[in-house]
Amino acid sequence: MSRKILILPGDYIGPEIVTEARRVLELVNDKYQLELELEEALLGGAALDEYAVPLPEQTLARARDAEAILLGAVGGPKWDAVDRALRPEQGLLQIRSELQLFGNLRPALLYPQLAAASSLKPEVVAGLDILIVRELTGGIYFGEPRGIRVLENGERQGYNTCVYSESEIERIGRLAFASAVKRNGRLCSVDKSNVLEVSILWREVMDKLAPEYPDVELSHMYVDNAAMQLVKAPKQFDVLVTGNMFGDILSDAAAMLTGSIGMLPSASLDQQGRGMYEPCHGSAPDIAGQGKANPLATILSVAMMLRYTLDCTEAAEAVESAVSRVLDRGLRTADIFTAGQQLASTREMGGAVLGELGNE
Ligand code: NAD
Repeated sequence: MSRKILILPGDYIGPEIVTEARRVLELVNDKYQLELELEEALLGGAALDEYAVPLPEQTLARARDAEAILLGAVGGPKWDAVDRALRPEQGLLQIRSELQLFGNLRPALLYPQLAAASSLKPEVVAGLDILIVRELTGGIYFGEPRGIRVLENGERQGYNTCVYSESEIERIGRLAFASAVKRNGRLCSVDKSNVLEVSILWREVMDKLAPEYPDVELSHMYVDNAAMQLVKAPKQFDVLVTGNMFGDILSDAAAMLTGSIGMLPSASLDQQGRGMYEPCHGSAPDIAGQGKANPLATILSVAMMLRYTLDCTEAAEAVESAVSRVLDRGLRTADIFTAGQQLASTREMGGAVLGELGNE
């Protein structure tokens, strides 16, 4: 039986990087006889232009039907004036929430070939390999009540609510423990339990789960300290698990440790392991249409799809090692370029990965 993969190119550089990632997916599909059936649909600004909504019903229906989704990126200045509820980014939030993609996995891995691209000293980051597990459908980004109200004295007040139920914490905790089992067995849970009740519960639930995973060493850290440790001594971490907003911020900081956001893939999973795979970066309107976008984060998102949803570790490793060999050869898109290397366009970078994969 064929397995459906939905491709959502999105906006600005989205279609450029997705084209390269799709070529990689098609090649591994043939090579490893995965019997994947690839189809495309519109999300974000592209959908807004065509259907007047950022997440059309037909896209959502196909997304529900698919085993995995490959997304480029959505949004950009073309839609800046659009009503907030209809902005392209809302389509992304909606699809994550509709599909209950509660678990966001963001690896921050520094390829040794790119150690010079990091803003930190090479000895601090060389060999960095951490995984941030972020809760994606709860917490303060979705909590009710929320809004801007007018107080009795006429002053306006903005408010949001950070809520996590035990079951929400437990399911992200289990995903994080299971990820740590597959890696180096160390899990650090990040919270703010010295101030927030929601974090006290978060910590209690993590502690309750720990005995079920005897091979994992659980520790806890306050989010302010975690931010500091990430830039001071990031290699102390293996897997970090945290809530929606803390994870949003920490994962961007971790991304920069690696030098380029153009290298970082991500996965957002539901409880059955089905997922949406996308680069960590946005639609980069400033470089769209110029062949400058780095397609490697999207290509590495395909590798994550192969590993986490399609259960084909062999193909995932083949893609990752093809990327590594292309970097060994000195090929670089502009975002990771340093003197002495060979500058490559989006298409050339994609083609080089395909070439390496084909040569295996
Ligand atoms: P961005 O990630 O698009 O760009 C930040 C910087 O990184 C830019 O200078 C860009 O040129 C560069 N960059 C990003 N991806 C790159 C790549 N693959 N290769 C080379 N350079 C790359 O963030 P932004 O500029 O804040 O946002 C632009 C738009 O993207 C906004 O509309 C934003 O809402 C949207 N966005 C979408 C997503 C998503 O779809 N998941 C995520 C973040 C931002």
